[in-house]
Amino acid sequence: SADPVTPPRVYAAIDLDAVRASTAELVARAGSAATMAVVKADGYGHGMLPCARAALDAGATWLGVAVIEEALALRAAGITVPVMSWLMSPGEPLDAAIGAQIDLSASAPWALAEIAAAARSTGRPARVHLKADTGLGRAGATDADWPGLCDAAAALRAEGVLDVVGVWSHFAFADAPGHPTVQGQIGRFTDAVEIAEKAGLRPEVRHLANSAATLVSPEAHFDLVRPGISIYGLSPGPDVGRSAELGLRPAMRLAARVALAKRVPPGTGVSYAHRYVTDSETTLALVPLGYADGVPRAATNLGEVLLAGRRRRIAGTVCMDQFVLDVGDDQVAEGDEAVLFGPGDAGEPTADDWAAALGTINYEIVTRIGPRVPRIYL
Ligand code: PLP
Repeated sequence: SADPVTPPRVYAAIDLDAVRASTAELVARAGSAATMAVVKADGYGHGMLPCARAALDAGATWLGVAVIEEALALRAAGITVPVMSWLMSPGEPLDAAIGAQIDLSASAPWALAEIAAAARSTGRPARVHLKADTGLGRAGATDADWPGLCDAAAALRAEGVLDVVGVWSHFAFADAPGHPTVQGQIGRFTDAVEIAEKAGLRPEVRHLANSAATLVSPEAHFDLVRPGISIYGLSPGPDVGRSAELGLRPAMRLAARVALAKRVPPGTGVSYAHRYVTDSETTLALVPLGYADGVPRAATNLGEVLLAGRRRRIAGTVCMDQFVLDVGDDQVAEGDEAVLFGPGDAGEPTADDWAAALGTINYEIVTRIGPRVPRIYL
């Protein structure tokens, strides 16, 4: 028989079957468009490499990251599919990225110039995606700057130093289905593609859709979709739908084992600044996770946790490494497992519940889980 295994003090269990099932759902919804699984920020906190492999197993054919270090880590792990990295600042070393055939984004002529210089020194044409700002007001060339960016790219292409693989953009309100800017951005994107073609560019892939648009705006799919949050089984927002309704399965479950359980009298002040005071004799349970691990300090007297069959509100201040639950007269022992969030099927809160309680989005709840929390892959 197997040796009994003591579960770790704290862990984030990552269900890779859930990542595969959710990715397969997105790939199906993408129809004839290819799927780029977005695995930046350590796979939204779930672990970049295992989630990238799971998403590729389930039919994704591209990977997307924010920064070059992330892209190079994928290549170092032996991943050979197209990888796109979209955020850089002037002066970043680009030779390794071009040598590793990482697709780079350019929103401005300085980026094209730096990419071209690195391509000349590497002796290998760079793979570039030109980014248009179709209304997000973040990265991307404005309508006024777009024709100039396309012309600059066409000249470098003629020189043989780069291939314009893609033209792309990003939504501002994809998580508000029916918002008028969604159609507006699709129209401006279509115009931007036409201008690129007039400049002589023939991009292989035009791409615009994040998770929300992949799920609910098929007219935004173009050649490639870029889902991130939904790869991990989470809904891109309450107005898009709940994860189960969308065919998604939340992959992360965050748990910790009680480090101390003790009886205390009424009137006991709990944790820093005594923001919670017991009103009767009760049992306090110490949970060894804190804001250094990504439990927001704003969850003080607010966040809910499943312990001994019931949801309980955090009692008092969330500390750097620990917080306290007041479990009343319930039987709780050291070593019992407290679940902060998970898929919700065992009565535990979800990342969506945490986000709603704290006035944030599920993206922030999962992404901030820190490196001290081991990820365990199921
Ligand atoms: N594309 C870009 C440019 C992004 O920055 C992101 C994530 O923020 C995504 C796609 C994926 O978005 P989502 O996680 O909402 O699917």
